[in-house]
Amino acid sequence: MSLLGTVALVGAGPGDPGLITVRGRDLLRGADVVVYDRLVHPKLLDEAPPDARRVFAGKACGVHALSQDVINALLITEARQGRRVVRLKGGDPFVFGRGAEEALALAEAGIPFEVVPGVTSAVAVPAAAGIPLTHRGVASSFAVVTGHQDGGGGSPPVQWGHLAGAVDTIVVLMGLANLRRIARELIAHGRDPRTPAALVERGTTEAQRTVTTTLDDLARGTAGAGLEPPVVAVIGDVVALRERLGGV
Ligand code: SAH
Repeated sequence: MSLLGTVALVGAGPGDPGLITVRGRDLLRGADVVVYDRLVHPKLLDEAPPDARRVFAGKACGVHALSQDVINALLITEARQGRRVVRLKGGDPFVFGRGAEEALALAEAGIPFEVVPGVTSAVAVPAAAGIPLTHRGVASSFAVVTGHQDGGGGSPPVQWGHLAGAVDTIVVLMGLANLRRIARELIAHGRDPRTPAALVERGTTEAQRTVTTTLDDLARGTAGAGLEPPVVAVIGDVVALRERLGGV
């Protein structure tokens, strides 16, 4: 047996514990250590063996129980001690989850690792609310963007001006606090103020709530009051399909 353990960066899916992949669940069942984020459904942690160590890594919109450096170091240390580590992250590990940073740290440290994709909230949460991101005759493209003011953690800012006319459906993650500014940017760059929009809170869970509105109302700040993260915002004509698809 190799002395070196392994790390699996596993996507937990968007909320509903049934939406993890079979591969992800199998790895959880064989884990010695599970390092998990806030958005991971507690039921998934029950899949790990009772004596597996469970470490909460936090991540509520910038509020981290453990810093990224500490998380990286923890994954490396545990693997070096021969353990099978599962790093369980909300949605897909490589969609705004800083999963690639963890993968880079593991690669640099020479730790064998695997990335197990997850069902991203960007697609699954709108779907759970009856909103497809593409639809023949309505939308043939979509973009998934961060709503963080500065792109988050020194990332390049989103080019709202370019985006406004470039894609049919715009999906905004982590955007609740900045929706007003985002909507104004999109309208200023030519997007029709009457474009339908939806805000979906805690999608795919028992607590899912959806608010439908328009870009105009988002720009005026009159939509979304009372909602709390996590929220996915969808902007585009596909939102109107919700009426016929009967989303929650
Ligand atoms: N890697 C994740 C995204 C991490 S960023 C993924 O692929 O889904 C965190 C953001 O995802 C939240 O701010 C919110 O915009 C969105 N999000 C994640 N889960 C959600 C849920 N169940 N309902 C609504 N939004 C969700």
